[in-house]
This record gives sequence, C-alpha cells and structure tokens, in this order.
Amino acid sequence: MTYKNYSTEQLRAIDNAHHLHPFTDHKDLRQAGTRVIARADGPFVYDTEGNEILDGMAGLWCVNAGYGREELVEAATAQMRELPYYNAFFRCTTPTPTLLAQKLAEIAPDHINQVFYGSSGSEANDTALRLVRHYWALEGKPEKNIIISRDWAYHGSTVAATSLGGMAAMREQLYGAVPNIRHVMCPYAFELANPGESDHDFGLRAAKAVEDAILEAGPENVAAFIGEPIQGAGGVKIPPESYWPEIQRICDKHDVLLMLDEVITGYGRTGEWFAAQSMNIKPDTITTAKGLTSGYQPLSALLVGDRIASTLVEKGGEFYHGYTYSGHPVACAVALKNLEIIEREGLIGRVRDETGPYLHEALQAGLGDHPMVGEIRTFGLLAAIEVVKDRDTRERFQPEGSAPVVIRDHAIANGLMMRAVMDTMIMSPPLIWTKETIDMAVDRIRKAFDTAEKELR
Ligand code: PLP
Repeated sequence: MTYKNYSTEQLRAIDNAHHLHPFTDHKDLRQAGTRVIARADGPFVYDTEGNEILDGMAGLWCVNAGYGREELVEAATAQMRELPYYNAFFRCTTPTPTLLAQKLAEIAPDHINQVFYGSSGSEANDTALRLVRHYWALEGKPEKNIIISRDWAYHGSTVAATSLGGMAAMREQLYGAVPNIRHVMCPYAFELANPGESDHDFGLRAAKAVEDAILEAGPENVAAFIGEPIQGAGGVKIPPESYWPEIQRICDKHDVLLMLDEVITGYGRTGEWFAAQSMNIKPDTITTAKGLTSGYQPLSALLVGDRIASTLVEKGGEFYHGYTYSGHPVACAVALKNLEIIEREGLIGRVRDETGPYLHEALQAGLGDHPMVGEIRTFGLLAAIEVVKDRDTRERFQPEGSAPVVIRDHAIANGLMMRAVMDTMIMSPPLIWTKETIDMAVDRIRKAFDTAEKELR
C-alpha cells in the first residue's frame, strides 16, 4: 500500500489525527489542514492536488543540488546494500564518514581539518557548545564558559540550541535555559540603524555590542561568540561589511573563540563553499548541515579548527559526547556524492558570478519600485524583501508580521514557495536555479505583492 491509495482528504484527516508538526499552532493547523507535498523534480515540488510549485526555499534552505538527483538515490542505495549502518564509537569507523571528513577538510578554510558528525544542525550546535566549553576546561580555564550570542539568532530547536538562539518567542518556552549564554543586538540595519547612521558605522556599533558584553562578563569568563554569518530564519539579516572583520578583531583581542553557524550559508549558498570564505572570517568552529546532503539524508558536520582539535588530541581524555548516528554511513555516502555534484556542475561559481548577482538585479527591477517594498537584500542565493506600508517612513502594516503572510499565501497560490518572517519575505532557492527560473520567481512575487496590496490597503 502506498500513499497513492489515499485521497488528499484522507491523508489530511490522518495527519490531523496523529501528526504533531514542528513549529506549528496545532489548533490552527487542524482547522486549516495541511498541504501534502508528494513529489519533486528539479526546482519544483508537487502537491497531491496537482499544483506545481517553484520551491523558493529549497525545502528548508537545504536542497542545494535540487530535486530528482538519481545519483544521490544510487549512492544511498548502494551504501545501504553494502553497509546500512555501523557506528563510529569504540575505535571503529566506516569508510564514508572518513572520506567525507577528508573532503570537508579540503573545502573548509585551511585551518579547519577535523569533523564531528550529527544528524541535524541543532545537534551540531549542541556539540559545538559542549566542545568549546570542554576546550577551555582542558586548557585549565573552566571558568571561561560564557557564550555571547545575538537577538534573532536561530541555532536550532534542542534545549541547548534554543538557549543559544535569540528568538524571544522560542526562549519563552524554554522553561529553563542552559546557563551562561548572553545575547546582544544583531546587525539589522533596516530596523536598528539610527537616522543618518551609515551602514559602516552601524556595523561597528553592532560589533561593539559584542565587545561590551565580553568586557561586562570579563574576557576571562567568555568562551566564545556564536553567530550566523547571515541570520537566516531571523529574516535573512545581512550584516554591513564592517561587521565581521570587527567581530574577528574583538574575538582575537579578548581570546574569545569564534563559532560560526553555517547551517544555512554552507555548501555554496553564498558563492563559496562557506560564508567564512565569502566574508573572510576565521572561525574556530563551523556548524554545517542541510546543504551537506542537499537534504536527501539527515546529516550535520561540525567543522573544528586546529586550535580546538589539537588541544583535544594532545591533552586527551574522553570527550563524553556523540550520537548513535554520528557519521551515519548512508548519510555520508550521499553527502560525498552531493559535494561531487555541486563541484562537477560548478554550482558555486554560478551562484557567485551569475545567479547571485542576477537574483539581486531581477528583484530590484521587478520589485524595487513597489510601494510595499522597503528594502531588498541579497547575498548569493539568499534574499530578503522588507514589507512596509509606507516606503518613506518605513511604517509597517499592523499587526506586526501580518502583511507578509498574505503575500506568502498569494505567492504559493501563484506557484512560488516563499517564507514570511515577521515583516520580511525571504527566499533561499536551490543552487540549480537559472536566470530563467529567477525571472519566473520574480514575476510570481510581483503578482503576489500586487494582489496583496489590493487587500491590505
Ligand atoms: N542553525 C541554523 C542557522 C539554522 O538555520 C538551523 C535550521 O534552520 C539550525 C541551526 C538547526 O538545524 P536543524 O533543524 O537541522 O536542527
């Protein structure tokens, strides 16, 4: 029996009866009903009602190589036949995580040569948090354990990852956060820059908030700063160019480790393998997941810099941490093939030189003059559109966050999957998008804005 024996209505009813969805108001979902996405190919997903939808979000920021990749299916199948599972505990390994670690060391910044696997970005951030604190303990400074993070950060949904995160609504439901994690302002110039303040100055001010927090805690007590190079789920908040170099300087000056969360930005999205390379950041850890397998298998890789790794190796002692699926052989086989595809097809160079710049141009040309657009930001294949009621005053529609939901619903009805985060529309398409796909998307967004405007004004 396959799902094809069920009607959409039957699937919805079963879903309502048994399935608790992530990040969902369950009462609301039971009234609205789910959309059942049943298959996908290239840049499109298809629901059970026959709608073809251009996937402007690459699933959840993950399907970098696009849908329908037979090679990935074959890589998984072959590995499952040969060895579906074995673990990396007790002095064992299997070939694919080993070879994948070698490949990751090759594509990561030069000073990063070690990898710790998990199955999700959240797990990888849990690992990162434990690892940096363990590092300082091994260095004889266990009191150096405070982590500085930022408002609007999203680092995942486990207790530790939510504690690292800076989403107020999520934190309210923590009912007891992991201690010694502090939050400072994020570099969101559109809302937080003062009147007349240049982007450059705002970037330095936002970085200074990190230094102030370090000084307030005492540098001897601060283990690390964690940040997404571009805050993704927080609304594709792209920092001014002055921000990251200043963060790097501050971390170096106070001997604070720099943890980058590249779960969204990794594996080509910014036009390099990692945003660390696009933005010239030298992190001590890089959290990655999603695009590593293009979402075809759950897998995360925490990339660990030489400084931490050499202490771990030289000082020794067991690091009591790991997951049953750390280095899952099937997930790693898929990742190896996925990286091969991204490389062979030159997808990263295409994002950097062609589709990334074109996405910006096309959004500006199609929406730059729209009365409801306050700002368009892009970096590689990440995009944000600020939705405003008044372009000059930047006044928002009320209640907060309501207008983008209307636009999003029209976009989906027009055949484009986009996401709304508060008052921002965001996009993160597969890296296989061409100029033609971008034109198709921009056309559908424009129509969604136009229809929404008639309803909202
Ligand atoms: N970090 C960032 C920057 C993310 O965007 C996400 C997920 O969207 C995560 C961590 C958590 O990843 P996962 O959902 O795989 O646990």
